[in-house]
Formats: sequence, C-alpha cells, structure tokens
Amino acid sequence: MYRIGIDIGGMSAKFGLVEKDRVLEERVLETGADISYGKFLDDASDVVAALCENRKVEAVGISSCGLINSGQGKIVYSNNIGWEDKRIAADLLERTALPVRVANDAKCAALAEAVYGAGRAYQRVCMITLGTGVGGGFVCGGRLPAGLYADADGIMGHITVERGGRLCSCGRKGCLEAYASATAVMGAYREMTGENLAAKEIFMRAKAGEGAACKVLSEFRYYLAEGLISLVNVLRPEVVIIGGGLCASSALFIKEVEEQVNRYTFGGDRLPVKVVPAELGNRAGIIGATLL
Ligand SMILES: [Zn+2]
Repeated sequence: MYRIGIDIGGMSAKFGLVEKDRVLEERVLETGADISYGKFLDDASDVVAALCENRKVEAVGISSCGLINSGQGKIVYSNNIGWEDKRIAADLLERTALPVRVANDAKCAALAEAVYGAGRAYQRVCMITLGTGVGGGFVCGGRLPAGLYADADGIMGHITVERGGRLCSCGRKGCLEAYASATAVMGAYREMTGENLAAKEIFMRAKAGEGAACKVLSEFRYYLAEGLISLVNVLRPEVVIIGGGLCASSALFIKEVEEQVNRYTFGGDRLPVKVVPAELGNRAGIIGATLL
C-alpha cells in the first residue's frame, strides 16, 4: 500500500510516491506568488492521479510552509506562496477522492526523523530546524501530539534567549531565530566584516580559524544551546535532532551544544539529552507528510 507525500515550499511543491521510508517516484510543480491556488490544485490533482495509476494509494499527506491548522486541514497563512485561509485538505479530497492531511513542514520533518531517522530509537523526540528561520516539532510515540501547539507552528524560533537583544523577524527582540537561523549567522558576520557570505561558508572560515567567523560561530552555539535548554526543560525529550540547512555544518557545533544543554537543563547531569544531526535530508518533508 502506497501513500503520496506533498512538500509545499516557497519555490516548488515536491510530490513523492512513498512506501514506508522510501520515496519511489518524484514529481515537481512550481509554486510562488504568481501561481494561483486554483491552478495549483488542478495541477496537483493531475500529478496525484498520475502517481496513482495502476497502484493502490491509500492517502495523501501535505507538508507545507506557513501557519497551518491541521485540525481543519487548512493553510491559515503562507507569506511565501501568498495563500490565506485555504482548506487544502478538503479541496484536494474533492478532486482526488483520497483522504488528505496537512501540517507545517518543520513538524512533518520532525515526524519523519522521529519514526525513520535520527530519532527512531526514542519515544520523545524534539527536532529543531535551522534554516532561513527556526522551526521545529515535538513527536511522542511516533505521533505529533494532537492539540499541543497544533496551530502555532514555528514557536520554537521565538523563544527569548536574550532580553532586549537582536531584532527578530516577528517584531520582538532577542528571539532564538535572531541568533540561530542561517539568516542570523549571515547578518552577524556581515555586521562585523561587511561581507555577505552564506552561513555554511562562514562556518568553514571559522573552522579555518578566521577571527570574525569564530566569534559568529561561538555566539551561534551559545544561543542555540540557550534556546534548547528552555525547550528541553519544558518538553523533556530524550533526543534533540538538529535539522535544516545548518545541519550540514553540525560537526562544528553539536558536541559543544549538547554539553551546554546537559550542563544547564534541570537534571541534565543525571538524565542527559542527546543532541544529534538529522539523517533524512530533504526527503523528510515528503516522508513526514505521509505519516500524518
Ligand atoms: Zn521572534
């Protein structure tokens, strides 16, 4: 029995025919502010129909950027694709006659990692995605806890780590996202050197010992750990998975972050929490969607 996962991002929507943790076939559609919701639905239905040909497909899952109401199957708001209040689960069900569920992309990635990736040996898994922004999800026993922050995606990035600190995209100051996102790393380095470099490149320079880059990396590590300490104190996961674009550089910070987290979380010395990199890469969205 197969499922179809759809990973909707700001530039494209990736469709995958999935069997457990394997993506057997992939299709891509363009998304963006100039592609209407109606047009997307029509094209998406065609892609789903093509993937279903001569196969038994039981359900469709959608991993989407933006603010999602999973209970209502609705994309509440996504600034990247310009959609507002779209009942995508009901609309796609009407066109494909398949049951459809939807959740925020960071939460779908967390679900995939918890079931098939870096969290598969654990019951309580927390994932944090460090990319353009900072998002994440908490998974318990292979499921997203229903009701628990179900409609408030992305809150992980807006934990305060420095009161009155750097200005965040949400309008507040001192959020984790203003320190631990790729955007924040780039901004901090630009402020110091005037140079506009990708976060990965900045971390490479830190590895090579460049002063400004080392400073940026050490600040990033400190604040990431501060944010995780708050998360771990509230959710008490057994493992924290680091995902998103910055995961590729995790060898440069993950051990130090794990050490700081266990030193300062309540009871961390007796019940240490693992901090590990994600394993599924960009397949996590599609696979996680099929686990909804
Ligand atoms: Zn914020």
